[in-house]
Amino acid sequence: MADDYYQILGVDRTASAEDVKKAYRKLARKYHPDVNPGNKAAEDKFKQVSSAFEVLSDPKKRKLYDEFGPDAEKIGFDEKKAEAYRAYKSAASSGGAGGIPFGAEGFDLGDLFSDLFGGRGGGAGFGGVDPNDFMGGRRGRSAGPERGEDLAARVQLSLAEAVSGTERTLSLSRPGRCSACSGRGDSGRMGTCPTCSGTGRARRAGLFGGNAVCPNCQGTGRALEACPQCGGSGIKEESTRLTVKIPAGVQTGSKVRLAGQGAAGSRGGPPGDLYIETEVADHPLVRREGDDLHIDLPVTVPEALLGADVRVPTFQGEVTVKVPPGSQSGRRMRLKGRGVPSLKGGSPGDLYLHLQVKVPEEATDEARAAAEALSRAYRGDVRRELTL
Ligand SMILES: [Zn+2]
Ligand SMILES: [Zn+2]
Repeated sequence: MADDYYQILGVDRTASAEDVKKAYRKLARKYHPDVNPGNKAAEDKFKQVSSAFEVLSDPKKRKLYDEFGPDAEKIGFDEKKAEAYRAYKSAASSGGAGGIPFGAEGFDLGDLFSDLFGGRGGGAGFGGVDPNDFMGGRRGRSAGPERGEDLAARVQLSLAEAVSGTERTLSLSRPGRCSACSGRGDSGRMGTCPTCSGTGRARRAGLFGGNAVCPNCQGTGRALEACPQCGGSGIKEESTRLTVKIPAGVQTGSKVRLAGQGAAGSRGGPPGDLYIETEVADHPLVRREGDDLHIDLPVTVPEALLGADVRVPTFQGEVTVKVPPGSQSGRRMRLKGRGVPSLKGGSPGDLYLHLQVKVPEEATDEARAAAEALSRAYRGDVRRELTL
């Protein structure tokens, strides 16, 4: 099975589609089971040739085959898996998880590797790859509609955006519904049956030998042609721009689900969902604890001593806060409901102000005189309770 498809057809890697077709026709005629009744070697050869043609006659599959070789079979000639595979390899070679392009993140690498290395049930002897899967191409394993995969994208936000909610326009590329066939996968025209390449026989290795009737065309050799735009999957990569509403209250790791915005389903199946994962940047002045926010509020010595109304910025606008007379550094004041809105619909968090008494930066003569006067205002030693 690992034999090179180009070698099997006897063409070189730059062969045109026409040359591939010619080579296939010649070999298929030579090894066709009708011409070689009971000849097991010819039958095997016919299967090989058909498999090779299946891949090399499909520009999309051929491209993936050229890039991945036999691994292309293992990823099912699926462009999305291929992308994840590429991303994985480039991340692995650059030694970091960064640089995984959009779309790849939505794909669970665990899934990919179970496909690649035998996780799929009962694939013994085939490295986990169901031979029908690629021999019958898209019609092998599952001829019916399939739901599209879920995708994921990451969005970075400032804390202010996380508190107030925001909108983002994302440019993304995803497997979309093929417009040429409206996602059905066929061209609407009758032609050579793509499942059996017109032989009328099922090519299901090992299961029925070469003599089962092709289930797609019931042995007539003619069926709806695959859509030339999407090769029969009903799916075409599309670039799109989506405006996403990010609700107030998200934090790093929150997921916003956009139903139906994932990959298109194959052969008319429903689309998957798109998950937007938010990443909220740290704020240099504001600490977040759950839905509560904490900021240090600098006050002057006179404000702390005598009390004052001070203006404090919040994410919901400026407010005036009463600093009580005699406030010490570290005093905590709570502004109820001025924290982060609750993502789950509960009450919002609070904003805590931590007073920080600031001394003047420079001891002018005036400040010096005032400080001396102040020092006489302390009752006793300020450190009298500091005993260890
Ligand atoms: Zn058929
Ligand atoms: Zn199509």
